[in-house]
Amino acid sequence: MMWQLAGRLWRETDKRLLWKLAWNLGVKGVLSVERHKRRLKRGEVFPPFLYVSVINSCNLRCQGCWVDVSAKMEAMTPDAFHRLVREARQMGNVFFGIVGGEPFMHPRLFDLLEPHPDCYFQIFTNGQFITEEVARRLRRLGNVTPLISVEGTEIVSDERRGRPNVFNRTMQGLRACLRNKVFTGVCTSLARSNFDDLLNERWIDRLIDLGVMYTWFHVYRPMGPDPRPDLCLTPEQQVEARRFVVEMRAKKPIIIIDAYYDGEGQALCPAATGISHHINPWGDIEPCPIVQFSKESIHSGPQDGRSLREKFVGSEFLRDFRRLAAQTTRGCIVLERPDLLAALVEKHQARDSTVRGTAFQELQALTPRTSQYHPGREIPEKNRFYRWAKRLWFHDFGVYRGADHSRESAPALMVHSVG
Ligand code: SF4
Repeated sequence: MMWQLAGRLWRETDKRLLWKLAWNLGVKGVLSVERHKRRLKRGEVFPPFLYVSVINSCNLRCQGCWVDVSAKMEAMTPDAFHRLVREARQMGNVFFGIVGGEPFMHPRLFDLLEPHPDCYFQIFTNGQFITEEVARRLRRLGNVTPLISVEGTEIVSDERRGRPNVFNRTMQGLRACLRNKVFTGVCTSLARSNFDDLLNERWIDRLIDLGVMYTWFHVYRPMGPDPRPDLCLTPEQQVEARRFVVEMRAKKPIIIIDAYYDGEGQALCPAATGISHHINPWGDIEPCPIVQFSKESIHSGPQDGRSLREKFVGSEFLRDFRRLAAQTTRGCIVLERPDLLAALVEKHQARDSTVRGTAFQELQALTPRTSQYHPGREIPEKNRFYRWAKRLWFHDFGVYRGADHSRESAPALMVHSVG
């Protein structure tokens, strides 16, 4: 199976882009995680994988979106982005997830990316602005992979995304990338409305036939001003999704990404482990995209000459968030214990980093629910390559050591950590 995948990569992707992928993301990405591990030994956290929302605006209106897409457009300036990348490069980072809103609505997106040929960018996009010309530019850049979101069949897509003809327009963008031999992925936020349509071998085979090289099944999270909990997967569906991913990794010549399990199938939170944090279009540093609270900004204030490293490493809010998240659950603290997160936000007087200004009330209104953590139902990787790679570079880095995740311990923990 891995040979088949290698054959597909060789035949279907531009060789220069493959080289960039292997060198920038493969070799240098691994080295950035090794530096992260060494920093952790010194008690320092600077995430090797930063996710940067470069714009808040979007042309779609997805159900349950937590981004202020209708607010006045805020697009990160090239100067701010370049400074951010430069400072992160000094820490050994090479990978940047580019998020939105819709990143291709950023009027100067290519000006952000072009000066950084030594990095690797993954753009999370609905694909609708990827014309033939845009795809050609992506190919010329070589160090950018679009991750195009498909949220269901024609009918479900339109409903999930709040606009007509979404599926077909997204597929046009996808095909433009593939015609240009760009290394391209498709992601799906699994919800009850698309679970049966997309979590199956037929869909994986269709992606392979199209020339898609990787896929990523997120799990829908009920956040924002209209959280739509009716779309959330049941715990059984969550376990089924994990099982499907593990099976397909061992069977199909397509890369399948996930960010929530180590090689033994143990759940983890990438924000708790410190491997990734998020920066919003206004420059606020947040633990992850759905935790819209911040104490630090990438933009230096008048008396603030601190480096990006000092902001990350010195942030008490981020440190307490990671500690509380790790002590509470191997899953997602936001979903399982929004009350603890709200207490943490209050304790630190963290700023609501949304435009709507209601993130705290939204957090308080959340009903606790299960997340990716299903103790006793761990499903280890079957594909030896994933298992090996995750053992080395994607695991919990020891942050859960000594934590008691039994439900009874949580209230005491709240007093201990937050009170
Ligand atoms: S806090 Fe929840 S949503 Fe954020 S990275 Fe962790 S598991 Fe994911």
